Amino acid sequence: MKIHILQTGTVGVSPLLPFGGDNVSTAKASGIFTRKKDRLWLPVFIYYIETPHGKLLVDTGWRREMSPKGVFDRKAQIKELVTPMLYRINYGVLPLGQAADEQLAEMGVRPEDLDHVLISHLDCDHVCGLRAFKNAKNIMVSKKDLDHIRANRTGRVRFRPEWWEGVDLKTFDWNGTEGPVGCSYDVFGDGSVVMINIPGHSAGLCAIKVTGEDGRFVLIATDGGYARKSWEQMITSGISEDKELQRKSLAWIREQSENPDCIAVLASHDTEVTPHTIEF
Ligand SMILES: [Zn+2]
Repeated sequence: MKIHILQTGTVGVSPLLPFGGDNVSTAKASGIFTRKKDRLWLPVFIYYIETPHGKLLVDTGWRREMSPKGVFDRKAQIKELVTPMLYRINYGVLPLGQAADEQLAEMGVRPEDLDHVLISHLDCDHVCGLRAFKNAKNIMVSKKDLDHIRANRTGRVRFRPEWWEGVDLKTFDWNGTEGPVGCSYDVFGDGSVVMINIPGHSAGLCAIKVTGEDGRFVLIATDGGYARKSWEQMITSGISEDKELQRKSLAWIREQSENPDCIAVLASHDTEVTPHTIEF
């Protein structure tokens, strides 16, 4: 197993968004009134994984069109995120060469070489880059995430189908009982790569557990927590669909991190993480 942790730019948010806790107002945490200079800039990580079963990509980060010259571009960003409100919540910068497809091309990997693109959830900073991978073999998100968006008014505001337009986005339903709410999807049927529902930040949000032959594993916690301190100190984020479920998911992530077989737990926006490769 080889997990390449790649950074696809940064996201500029209200400081209350990642660690706002249980009592912060959604309006404040959303950052719609937060000035650019007051924002917290967090990395956006994606994961390219080489497994005995093939090549996988977890999440796709921003797309070049959002930051055509590699710098902050208000106009391009509003167009990319579709609505001015989504732009105000998530400022983004994607330096040249850091888009997912650009980095994989640099490693000699074409979109059609990918056996799976697994989407943890459909927030813009995880899915906007997906259109560059429409030729990958299997592109998947949990049925729960997509169903929730379609059935829910807030979901329809927060997530935009334009971000996966022209992509054959398939959904998977749970085929296992791992995780804080007993919902998981074993991608290859042998326990090596399992998508595990960790609801809270979004309903169908998944962590990805990658387990080697010797039983040691890496847990990609995606947006289950914004940094290690989120599960170590049980700090919920400012924006969350369900704080109680988020706490349940954080407790489960913490439990995993304490398992002696756990090599690493990785959050998608942890400022303490730098791009590197884990081989096991
Ligand atoms: Zn995110």
